[in-house]
Amino acid sequence: SKRGPSNAILAPNFKFEDMGIGGLDTEFSAIFRRAFASRIFPPGLVEKLGIQHVKGILLFGPPGTGKTLMARQIGKMLNAREPKVVNGPEILNKFVGQSEENIRKLFEDAEKEQKEKGDESGLHIIIFDELDAICKQRGSTGGGTGVGDSVVNQLLSKMDGVDQLNNVLIIGMTNRMDMIDEALLRPGRLEVHIEISLPDEAGRFQILTIHTAKMRNNGVMAADVDLAELAGITKNFSGAEIGGLVKSATSFAFNRHVKVGSVAAFDDVENIQISRVDFMHALDEVQAAFGVSEEELQ
Ligand code: ATP
Repeated sequence: SKRGPSNAILAPNFKFEDMGIGGLDTEFSAIFRRAFASRIFPPGLVEKLGIQHVKGILLFGPPGTGKTLMARQIGKMLNAREPKVVNGPEILNKFVGQSEENIRKLFEDAEKEQKEKGDESGLHIIIFDELDAICKQRGSTGGGTGVGDSVVNQLLSKMDGVDQLNNVLIIGMTNRMDMIDEALLRPGRLEVHIEISLPDEAGRFQILTIHTAKMRNNGVMAADVDLAELAGITKNFSGAEIGGLVKSATSFAFNRHVKVGSVAAFDDVENIQISRVDFMHALDEVQAAFGVSEEELQ
């Protein structure tokens, strides 16, 4: 046969460092090795090995840890089409048949392109965020609408159909691995499971570095800000919370420039500097908002 259809080409000059993902190098390598390496093998090798590409992966772990970020960046890396992102709860529709129709539509473009271009079809990535939401109601009696059942079935049948579609990769995401229907996790479906956990201190340092890159490069971050110190005192923060911390610190710095007696005018704001004290105020604020306790931060 010809060149593998899913020999998606790595985007030129791709580097993990440029992806803007902190602390997930190991996870990324695992995903790459298990789910993508075969897609960039030299022509003919997949056939020679007699293997099939992985058609689906599941990223699981706490909210805000970079699952969506990772899924999107993988798409970029593989030169895939802009991924279709759907949200579990969004798919569920109170109108009978509409949810199944929504799922069917998701696969439509990939099917069409495979038909038209065969092995030359590009890679289509479908991202299912909050996948647990459609599983919740499966098999539930009473309370649930029962719609989840048929939606999962439709998804299963589409995934199995993907066997004939070499140009589809499904990335499921969830914070609730325990809720995911086992049938979805079988070989040929979402068969590779990668946990994306909260970042450790080194990971938090990388994430802080990413989220402050602009302000540091543009000279608006004060010299007294020590990212290593911040990484040390943000235990249990997710990547999203670290992003929130940086935003909050910026707002405290702004606040120093608010014109006296005004709420909407700034004084000398061009010379803004985000300082250590802003990060400390931000920490207090974020901790209060997320209910992070003192012990958790020790
Ligand atoms: P959810 O389960 O709530 O959908 P998620 O794991 O998909 O969460 P993302 O949506 O990828 O999380 O993360 C939200 C934002 O938090 C990102 O857009 C990014 O700004 C920041 N973020 C999260 N994790 C990281 C990370 N590892 N490195 C850099 N930024 C991160």
